[in-house]
Amino acid sequence: MYTGSILVVDLSTGEASERELDDALVDSRLGGAAVNLSLYEEFKDKDPVVIGSGLFTGSMVPGCALCVVTARSPLNGKVMHSPLVNYLGAELKLAGFPFVVLHGRSEAPSYLWLHDEIADVLPAQAIWGQDTWKAVDYIREEQGEERIQVLSIGRAGENRLSSAMAVVDYWSEGDKVGLGKRLGEMNLKAIATRGMGELEVDDPERTLGLCRRAMGAARSRLGGAKGVDSLLPGADLGDLSTIRHRDIACSGCPWPCRTFVKYNEPATVLKEELKEPGMLVADLSGFLALMEGGRSAADAARLLEACSRLGLEPMAAAARVKGIDLEESRSVLSSLASGGFEARGIPSVEGATCPGTFSPFAPNGGEKEVIALSYVLGICPRYSAKVGLDFELCAELIEATTGLEKGANELRDLANSIIR
Ligand code: SF4
Repeated sequence: MYTGSILVVDLSTGEASERELDDALVDSRLGGAAVNLSLYEEFKDKDPVVIGSGLFTGSMVPGCALCVVTARSPLNGKVMHSPLVNYLGAELKLAGFPFVVLHGRSEAPSYLWLHDEIADVLPAQAIWGQDTWKAVDYIREEQGEERIQVLSIGRAGENRLSSAMAVVDYWSEGDKVGLGKRLGEMNLKAIATRGMGELEVDDPERTLGLCRRAMGAARSRLGGAKGVDSLLPGADLGDLSTIRHRDIACSGCPWPCRTFVKYNEPATVLKEELKEPGMLVADLSGFLALMEGGRSAADAARLLEACSRLGLEPMAAAARVKGIDLEESRSVLSSLASGGFEARGIPSVEGATCPGTFSPFAPNGGEKEVIALSYVLGICPRYSAKVGLDFELCAELIEATTGLEKGANELRDLANSIIR
């Protein structure tokens, strides 16, 4: 279930070294947040940022889109886990770097390009000072590949503000713990990855059967739910339906809980006719915060776009633009990202589980062991909170994919060991 090796990058020297992901580590910690914590402990004196994929990330196990960043949060000083979804985890794993340890500080702005088991630290002067959307476009064009997944920072991160957010592709998502500031301190504009590798499973037929079983159970629980409004039924999303274009899922996920909205042209245009960009409402908590004070869904989405471009955490920023008109709000956001705007702590997201351990990403709750095991296995915590996580089935899937025998109780113990 893993291909490639652990990558360790010292940004101070630009040196990247690789080492084997040994069986004993996978046997005892499986992956994701649990392996990340082991690597964090090993490099603790270097204040590392560790990025890791879960055991099932990038596979056919339903909901397996998760990649986890483990680092000290500048907002509370604790080691926290941030979720990254979309296609980033799958690409990272298939690029041959299931785990990446970053430390040091690059002398000049740089970005890390991971592909085909090759790691390059490349100059980023051309995109330093540019917004995250331009950074993504630049990297995809420079590397000649549209499907590259990019984690990047905007102006807020470059200015090392605790209100900064690291952004996946163009979208504000799971970092509410100040990872944007940490990357800015490293002078690292972006991490870009594209994977062409393959995963091998121990028993393909059994794995397929178990995935079908998991999918059947999930479908009956989902019952056709889709869109950001299905993430938190009952939340007041105002006139969102007037700008809704389509609902989009991440890699390997049967529940498209994110909604793409159009506010620069009619939301009724067909996908093929899209000309102007819109915004993916994936960060529901940020979106709701920007709607406060009676703002329309379209204007809240416009400001969510501005936050994503600036790499600014929208819940922190929302309080500063409440009750202000759109144009002035844009200008306020721009000056907040330019300097001096520090967040007061990790934002409180009602319903989020284990907020002292995990960046508050899933407002739809979930039992703490379920959420923690999801961070180990690489299953999206929102997905697990929605459809549940059958520990017996997970144990069977682990055995079918890797040959490792783990009982449900052992999985519970591992999950609890990462909750702080
Ligand atoms: S539940 Fe939503 S955020 Fe999670 S993987 Fe599926 S589409 Fe992505």
